[in-house]
Amino acid sequence: MRGKIHSAAGIVLAEAIILSNSNGKPSWGITVAAVIGSGILALLPDLDHRSSTISRTFPLQIASHGLNILGFRHRAQMHSLMALLVLGGLMWVSSINLPWILSVCFFTAYFSHIFLDMFNEEGVELFWPLPWRIRLVPGFLAISSDNHSILQSIIDRVLHMLLMFFTFHLCIRYVAYLPGGDWLNIMWNKILSLVPTSIIGWIKF
Ligand SMILES: [Zn+2]
Repeated sequence: MRGKIHSAAGIVLAEAIILSNSNGKPSWGITVAAVIGSGILALLPDLDHRSSTISRTFPLQIASHGLNILGFRHRAQMHSLMALLVLGGLMWVSSINLPWILSVCFFTAYFSHIFLDMFNEEGVELFWPLPWRIRLVPGFLAISSDNHSILQSIIDRVLHMLLMFFTFHLCIRYVAYLPGGDWLNIMWNKILSLVPTSIIGWIKF
């Protein structure tokens, strides 16, 4: 699975969490922190691979090398329920100083990476230290790094559509609070009223 898909999933989920918990205008600082942090956290499990997006972008190849020396294998320890447990513990401790919604966004972003990697043909060692590789789809449907995958194209398109919708919706919410921004909010609400409430009713307007 490509890094940009993981990041897009983390950001989409963060925006969805913010929108489902904010009446009216979401906090600007929390939204920015949630979006940027989740985009990065969604890449973090691949720190166990020196050529991964997170290792090359920041650059953290030394950290990846260190993890490999310590025995961390790609799609094993850092792609497991154990990693989620450790992250959950860290989030719980940090939630004393961090708004709870950010902890939820970051944890969800990390989980989304593991979930999406279960559509790869190699799967992940979800129950590490047990060596079972868990994959959610049969081999012929699974995403391969060598070949074009229909499943990857579908996930890619759906995520980018959601990313555009949620980002646009959040931007409108901020613009609507600027002087003269009311008309934009009214127009957008009219468009949204065409969508059945059962689909977008969970968004707090
Ligand atoms: Zn991964």
